Amino acid sequence: MKGGYSFKRLAGIPKPMLSIAKIPGKVIIPLRQGFGEEAKPIVKIGDKVKSGQIIGIDDLSISSPIHATINGIVKDICPIKTFKEEATGIIIESDGTENGHININEENKDYKEADPDDINKILYLSGFTSLGKFGFPTKYNTSAYDSSKIENLIINAVYSEPYSLQNQVLFENNFDKIIIGLDILRKSLNYKANIHIAINAQDKDIIEAISGNDWLNLIPLKSKYPQDHDILLVQSILGKSIPYGGTILDLNTIILDVQAVIHAYQAVVEGKPIIERIISLGGTGIKDNLFLKVRIGTPLKDIIEPLLNSKDYRIIYGGLMTGKTCSDMSIPIGRTASAIAVINENRERQFLFFLRPGINRGSYSNSFLSFLFPFVTKKVDTNLNGEYRPCIYCNYCESVCPSRLMPYLLSKYSTHDMIDDAEKLRPLDCIECGLCTFVCPSKIPVMSHIKELKNKLSRVGNAP
Ligand code: SF4
Ligand code: SF4
Repeated sequence: MKGGYSFKRLAGIPKPMLSIAKIPGKVIIPLRQGFGEEAKPIVKIGDKVKSGQIIGIDDLSISSPIHATINGIVKDICPIKTFKEEATGIIIESDGTENGHININEENKDYKEADPDDINKILYLSGFTSLGKFGFPTKYNTSAYDSSKIENLIINAVYSEPYSLQNQVLFENNFDKIIIGLDILRKSLNYKANIHIAINAQDKDIIEAISGNDWLNLIPLKSKYPQDHDILLVQSILGKSIPYGGTILDLNTIILDVQAVIHAYQAVVEGKPIIERIISLGGTGIKDNLFLKVRIGTPLKDIIEPLLNSKDYRIIYGGLMTGKTCSDMSIPIGRTASAIAVINENRERQFLFFLRPGINRGSYSNSFLSFLFPFVTKKVDTNLNGEYRPCIYCNYCESVCPSRLMPYLLSKYSTHDMIDDAEKLRPLDCIECGLCTFVCPSKIPVMSHIKELKNKLSRVGNAP
């Protein structure tokens, strides 16, 4: 990968240990989670439900079943907010019991004896099929893909974004499950797809533990942000580029993460639907940064409030660079959640900040003292650490851009409405990693300008 950036020693990185959250008093289950349309509720207010029970399903539209994630009573079916959109949600109040879950592999079929159709049915019933950017293809109307065309399944175990999940946590006690999960997915695709796993090259023990399967293409990659973005992964692994304005669908490729592979194992071998997720809780606004296994539908408030260490903070749902600010603590954890960051707010005006020594300042530039003290933990808060100035043509944004763009020019063309000139510079290749904004010493919101440019292009009909 050209460009990119290695974030080092940021404050607020979770320790590689997994804790389990207590069962919440209530869960809010969106009827749309992951890829696909909203499912239709098949329970009513007052019904008793069990953990793992299907409570929403729609076989006619592209979708996957939705499950109760605790034992309890349906209290309401109403509009709710998720971190992305408004949706219909089912509110379940816990009955206080915690035991087990519904078995979705009712016939307890061994995956080795089951045929691909049986496996696909279990993956569908478990909700697994809604994972990945475009869903997982089966005959149950679950994806934008045609399963017979899939040539490559890539598992992303690189995790390069600050505060994202860590392989030590996911692989701990799960090596065999992950290999079996991969074999299950291989079988579900009729053994026609090549199976690749892109893994952080630093995780040598894990690489050694999962190597030795000749059907598994193990590719160690440097964990340099944003190496694990779909488009860059495909380039690194398959040596192919996605057509301009296209997606990985154009290369008949599916990308899933390690947690998805564990879900595939749990569904087929343990009969367990997706009722919980492992999420990282990073950032300086949290007392003890940790990884937490939580029930899907748990409101953010239940997870975050007990861990806060300040009154003034910003919640970012998703990774530090690509996540979205979220101000509503009633939003529930969804099926695809994997990271939440809480950053301390800092509204101090920092005039001429670039003249200060900055021993704990993480910066692309080597002109701060932090360059001489790489072992000092870098401060992370919401402050810009400086003020907007005109572009000084330092070229940092271009050298860090993994898409080989000229961000400063795109930014300028965007703010000057020079759409025709901008189009020649392939703005749709921007993967919105945010690095250009992060490195800019003039504090120009470069990526926002490029996003605005892309919107303008689609408004005038010039985007594919
Ligand atoms: S132009 Fe796009 S791809 Fe390049 S650094 Fe900026 S956000 Fe990332
Ligand atoms: S990093 Fe900022 S100041 Fe430097 S060239 Fe890019 S836009 Fe201009």
